[in-house]
Amino acid sequence: MIIVTKTDATEEQIQHILDRIVEWGLKAEVSRGALRTVIGVIGSEDSIREKPIAAIPGVESVTPVLKPYKLVAREFRGGNASKVKIGNVTIGDGEIVIMSGPCSVENKDQISSIAKEIKKAGAKVLRGGAYKPRTSPYAFQGLGTEGLRLLAETREETGLPVITEIMDTKHLEEMEKYADCLQIGARNMQNFSLLKEVGRSKLPVMLKRGMSATIKDLLMSAEYILSEGNFNVLLCERGIRTFETYTRNTLDLNAVPVLKAETHLPVIVDPTHGIGLRDHVVSMALAAVAAGADGIMVEVHNSPELAKSDGEQALLPGEFVDLVARVRKVAEAVGRSL
Ligand code: PEP
Ligand code: MN
Repeated sequence: MIIVTKTDATEEQIQHILDRIVEWGLKAEVSRGALRTVIGVIGSEDSIREKPIAAIPGVESVTPVLKPYKLVAREFRGGNASKVKIGNVTIGDGEIVIMSGPCSVENKDQISSIAKEIKKAGAKVLRGGAYKPRTSPYAFQGLGTEGLRLLAETREETGLPVITEIMDTKHLEEMEKYADCLQIGARNMQNFSLLKEVGRSKLPVMLKRGMSATIKDLLMSAEYILSEGNFNVLLCERGIRTFETYTRNTLDLNAVPVLKAETHLPVIVDPTHGIGLRDHVVSMALAAVAAGADGIMVEVHNSPELAKSDGEQALLPGEFVDLVARVRKVAEAVGRSL
């Protein structure tokens, strides 16, 4: 349910509305605009409907959100976009944020040297998997806790905040100790117990679209996280399965403008997993920015032929420098910055 206040509503009236909401056992999310304040009311729709909210002084309108997703709906913020912070990096304020790093953390030298290269080139967030969701149980599964420690050490060296994938609720505590943002991978997009658990975390979450998930499925999964109280959520388009086999996945850039219209949450695109072919990652990164993404996530490796995962799609550091320069030009062309 969305409450819009009158343009002349006083601070006291707004506070009174908020007090009533809490008294009724409901929760409120406040977005302050220049003229009006929009209050999103959280609770079961039935119990909200029974309350005489429209009778509270200062209230102009009370509107139900008719979509199946409520808290992630763009209306919930009165049409405004949300900003999400990873460490000291803000996503969603018009500047394109580039997250980069290897698929997997492999050893100290590898993560440290890649992090320094991508930072110099313009990346703002370091990625690296410590727990890897591999198709084969015999493939490299990640360094686990040791990988998280190496990421945290590299953050100390470079100042880059760290995003890493969480695969299991039992890892949340250590993730909160070492990481700045939790990634939910495509394979876990509908792991509802994991979504609820990260919904109770203080860390921001980047939710990747499942490879067979619709845009609506993605939004409903994000709703799980917000419904537990964590509004710091980024959505990531990373390609879906189609009949096409030339590329690893089909990067669904349709999702970008659709998500930007449907939700207030920032949208990230991962062209690396989206196409899976090194030679074409840059083109899809440029297309993502042109389509309106708030950021991109790109895998980089200093020695892709020796990479323990996803070597065939990782850019070399020099190629990443080129990507950043070209992304900057496209960003400027579409009224964004880098
Ligand atoms: C990854 O980011 O390395 C990854 C495993 O991504 P996805 O979950 O999109 O496959
Ligand atoms: Mn990968």
